[in-house]
Amino acid sequence: MLIVFDLDDTLIDTSGSVTPFKLNLIFKMGEERGVLPKSAEAELIQLNQKSASSKDALHEILRRYGALHLFEEALSLYTAPLPHDFAIPETPDAKNVLQALYGKGHRLAVVTGGKQPFQLEKIKKAGFELSMFSKIMVPEDSIKKPCYETLLNEFLALPSQCAVVGDRVPMDLLPAHELGLRTVHMRWGRGLLWKNENWIDHSIRELSELLEYF
Ligand SMILES: [Mg+2]
Repeated sequence: MLIVFDLDDTLIDTSGSVTPFKLNLIFKMGEERGVLPKSAEAELIQLNQKSASSKDALHEILRRYGALHLFEEALSLYTAPLPHDFAIPETPDAKNVLQALYGKGHRLAVVTGGKQPFQLEKIKKAGFELSMFSKIMVPEDSIKKPCYETLLNEFLALPSQCAVVGDRVPMDLLPAHELGLRTVHMRWGRGLLWKNENWIDHSIRELSELLEYF
């Protein structure tokens, strides 16, 4: 089986670590520039919880305060390197589960949207062994379908021999389902925004549940 993982809120606890740190940095930037009041920090956190991406939440808070001219700068801050000693936690038992799947002979890959250096930095900071992954793809526009197609071709896998594990139903799982791949919804962080859909094959809270299916 070829098992393709999303990164943020699937292999790593982005919502519990990187996101609050980055939102605070961006809030402080807006406050220093005199465009965001103190109350905007809590507002930004709330917005982020309801948004499909942090990018959407940043756009909305800056729009509300007439500060969209700072949007590009905010995005740059969001994907700028993390402090040297910043630790990123894995989601529960992620590394052990990957090792176990790898040990069972499954081929593992990562498809994660965003800026490549930032996404790779997060994988490394969380302590994942990169050699375990046959391929890591980082589409900057977060459009994953062409990546799934590339993986199927490259590894000569039938759609039924490929599964995608991710938290965001429209971005991670729907394109996989359209290609006939098996889909696993990780209900973590941002992934809690989406309910189970009847076409989703498995819904999990922790990656260890994958060992029952694969
Ligand atoms: Mg994700």
